[in-house]
Parts: sequence; C-alpha cells; structure tokens
Amino acid sequence: MPATMLDGRALAQELRQEAEAAIVELTAKLTRAPSLVVVQVGDDPASTRYVRTIGRLCKNVGVTFQLELLPNDAPQADLIGTLTHLNQQPDVDGILIQMPLPGHLDATSAILALDHRKDVDGVHPINAGLLAQGQPAIVPNTPAGGMELLRRNGITLRGKRAAVVGRSAIVGRPMAQLLVQADATVTICHSRTNDLGSVLRECEIVCVAAGRPGLITAAMIKPGATVVDFGTNVCDDGSLVGDVDFASVAEIAAAITPVPGGTGPVTNMMLLKNLVTAASARLKA
Ligand code: NDP
Repeated sequence: MPATMLDGRALAQELRQEAEAAIVELTAKLTRAPSLVVVQVGDDPASTRYVRTIGRLCKNVGVTFQLELLPNDAPQADLIGTLTHLNQQPDVDGILIQMPLPGHLDATSAILALDHRKDVDGVHPINAGLLAQGQPAIVPNTPAGGMELLRRNGITLRGKRAAVVGRSAIVGRPMAQLLVQADATVTICHSRTNDLGSVLRECEIVCVAAGRPGLITAAMIKPGATVVDFGTNVCDDGSLVGDVDFASVAEIAAAITPVPGGTGPVTNMMLLKNLVTAASARLKA
C-alpha cells in the first residue's frame, strides 16, 4: 500500500500561524518587533535568493529584518567585528551567518564569535553541546523541522529503532540527538558505513541527509518504516529531488516526506520559532 505523505507545506502553514501569534505576543512584551539580522559575505546568487526569501518571510510575519552585507573580499576581522557589534545590540534578537562563506574565511571562528543566545541557526558549539547533553538548546532548523513532521503526524518514536544517514553538524548529528531525546534507539550512518541497507532494514525510522540523489532504495527499507528525506538535490533539468528513490520507497514505507514539499518548507518556519525562543529567553534573563 502506498505510504502516507508527510506534508511539509501543510505543516509549514500551521507553524507559520503559530509563529505569527507568538510574534504578536512577543512584540507586546518587547514593545518592539523581534529582530533578525542575516550576515552575508559576497553575492553568491543562491545565498542572495535564500536571504531574500527570509527577508520577505520576516516582513510578512512582523519580524524586523536587517541584512548586513559584507563584500566578497571582506577580511575575517571585519566579519568578526560585525558579529561582535551585533552581539552587543540589545534590539537584535537573532543573528544568522549565511553559509557558505567565501573560501578565504574561517567559518568555525565566525560561528564561535556569535553570542550563542542569538544563534537562531543553532550552529554554535554551546548549542550543539547543550543538545548533546539533552538540555534545552537552540536546535538547527532543518532537523528541528524533521522532528515536527514526525511528531505532528503522530509517528511514535519511543523505543523505535532509528537511523540517520549523514553526520553533518547542521542536519545529521542534531537529528540523531533529537531522536535520542525522543527515546528512539539511534544509529548514525555515513559514507564509510558498511552495507548501509543492512543497517537501515533494521529500523522503523529512517532519516536521510546525504545529498546523494537515489541513495536510498526500496530494498534498504523495512516494510512499514517512516522515511524522512532531507536531501535537496537540483537535477540537470532544474527539478528538485531528495536522497530517497521516492517512487519505489513510497510503495513499501508507511509514511514518507516528498521532495519538494517535505522537510524544505518546514525549515524556515523553524527559524521563526528559534527567533521567538531566543528573544523570549533574553527577555526572561
Ligand atoms: P554534508 O555534505 O555536510 O553531509 C553529508 C553527509 O552524508 C556526510 O556525513 C556524508 O558522510 C554522508 N554521505 C555522503 N554520501 C554517503 C553515502 N553514499 N552513504 C552514506 N552516507 C553518505 O551535507 P548536509 O548535511 O549539509 O546536507 C545533506 C543534505 O540535506 C543535502 O542534500 C542538503 O542540500 C540537504 N539540506 C536540506 C535542508 C532542508 O531544509 N531540507 C537544509 C540543509 C541541508 P561523511 O561524513 O562520511 O562524508
């Protein structure tokens, strides 16, 4: 029987309405709109498109948005100086460093320069460490969105065997930590995993963030499993596909996220949620 679709577009609408309500409440408490600053270095077209989308979203939901655009050849000191300045501004609630940075810049030290309380992307090692310890943390948007898709579709995680394919700091690792927090038993797979299929076939939950179109086939999936595909791969014809061979896996899984329309639309809504969390926490501090 074909799988149930885990519909990211519908969930994104729901999350957006919740964020809007939270932003109205927060605006009253702060006596100003919550604010997000994106720091972008250079004019990479994909980054510019993404930042524009974020800016539009913020405007539409009542968040003050500011872009700090640094030239492509900006030295590391200028980037750090900008972040340090933003950290100190009381009316800046969230800061996002647009990645990737140009090759001459060191992303690790830029992230370390962020005030972790304003790190709405959840990339600062303090947030990653808190998450790893099972403590409240600002969690990267993409895996946080994956968890919302699972939870709000009533997928049971407690006691289930789960696998995450991918171990990046922004998707795979935090997703694994979140699944552990939800009482799943989790295996992290990566490019050196031997016989990926034999690991995945043991699992009722499979989350994939590898950036390899068609990596996951029906033969690797346990019948009745839930499959979350974070993969975002642009084909030669411009179409978007995930890491999962959707047509065949949808025949065997119980539930699956489509690409597009699955994890992608939820991600930006989680950014708003993180901004609300960050601003609320600073209000209480
Ligand atoms: P990275 O390239 O940082 O990480 C990819 C991970 O996949 C690595 O851990 C790598 O292993 C693993 N991997 C690669 N090939 C294989 C393989 N053949 N078998 C098993 N594991 C493999 O990517 P990201 O985590 O940043 O992104 C992953 C995907 O998610 C991309 O398609 C990206 O576009 C997408 N993405 C989607 C978002 C969304 O909102 N839906 C947001 C962010 C990313 P190793 O560590 O050994 O190299």
